[in-house]
Amino acid sequence: MTVVKQTIVGILGGGQLGRMSAMAAARLGIQTHIYCPEANCPASLVTPHFTCAEYTDKAALETFAKAVDVITYEFENIPVETVEYLKLFKPVYPDEELLKASQDRTKEKDFLNGIGIPTAPWAEIKSAADIDKTFDQWGFKEGILKTARFGYDGKGQIKISEGDDTATAWEKLKTDKAVLEGIIDFDYEVSIIIARDIKGHCAVYPLSKNDHKNHILWKTTAPISSATIEREAAYMAHELAEAVNLVGVLAIEFFVTKDGKLLANEIAPRTHNSGHWTIDACSVSQFENHIRCVAGLPVGKVGCHSSAEMINLLGEDILKLDEYHAMEGANIHLYGKTDAKPGRKMGHVTIVKK
Ligand code: ATP
Ligand code: MG
Repeated sequence: MTVVKQTIVGILGGGQLGRMSAMAAARLGIQTHIYCPEANCPASLVTPHFTCAEYTDKAALETFAKAVDVITYEFENIPVETVEYLKLFKPVYPDEELLKASQDRTKEKDFLNGIGIPTAPWAEIKSAADIDKTFDQWGFKEGILKTARFGYDGKGQIKISEGDDTATAWEKLKTDKAVLEGIIDFDYEVSIIIARDIKGHCAVYPLSKNDHKNHILWKTTAPISSATIEREAAYMAHELAEAVNLVGVLAIEFFVTKDGKLLANEIAPRTHNSGHWTIDACSVSQFENHIRCVAGLPVGKVGCHSSAEMINLLGEDILKLDEYHAMEGANIHLYGKTDAKPGRKMGHVTIVKK
């Protein structure tokens, strides 16, 4: 009898991205081991192996690392020290340089600009005086002040306009480091997802268009037909993936300006909400490709076979599924969360069309 080795991928973080990665892994005969400080997190409900411990618990990290073949993460606020410690035992993908860049908006923008990817005008802010100085240099007073670290879904952001008191805005943000960004009067927002395997082969997903409500992603439409923008976004995604020697998946969010230019807003060193549609409209989803790449398998050809509209189910939207239950082409994905707080991502629906 030949014994087939079962690879075990360790995943730091137990949210919906970890859950959908674990489900994609299971289909490939790969097991996942979720490491998350919260019991009953969405990913823990679909995986055979779960460690519930803090990211600073060295004994638990060591036991976890020894129980898996390779380690990845599903959100970017994992302490870098945790990754450095785990690397003593097993490979961790994507590399921590990418993690560091995506944890801090100043490093992120510096890094992007350094490899030729344009962003909105920005400045590092450490005091109210820095805000005034930056507006003086720009010659106008309008911008968004964002905490350098730990912002998500528009949290940790304050818009400042002519007439607003900068000292009050700075105090309100309760941080010691921020970025001030010029406000982009964009036409629309897009994102691109790239997967890169250990040998450096890449797969790029079709560009998707993203609509936000209250700064939270609400709807993604894909593919969108804009060949020039798609080519440019794919080029930048390749540049970034090469620059960080990516193994796994990353996403770049862009603003598309009224004159058709792309400005990068954010990078995510992981699978992304704007790529959930790939589960139902592509042969190989972003989650499967992430698992394939970190597990040392070849990246899969995307094989986009349908167009898709993905709608996030936020908060109590999860209680209103009748329409989707009755709709042809609607694929419902729920994350197993029981607490339907306003704005919380509880699930999503992808409506596919040939
Ligand atoms: P998420 O985690 O959902 O990506 P976030 O908290 O990291 O959100 P951003 O992506 O920086 O925040 O901003 C959220 C949204 O706010 C953007 O998608 C965009 O709609 C709007 N926004 C952010 N920065 C700017 C800007 N400089 N000009 C215009 N709109 C902006
Ligand atoms: Mg964003």
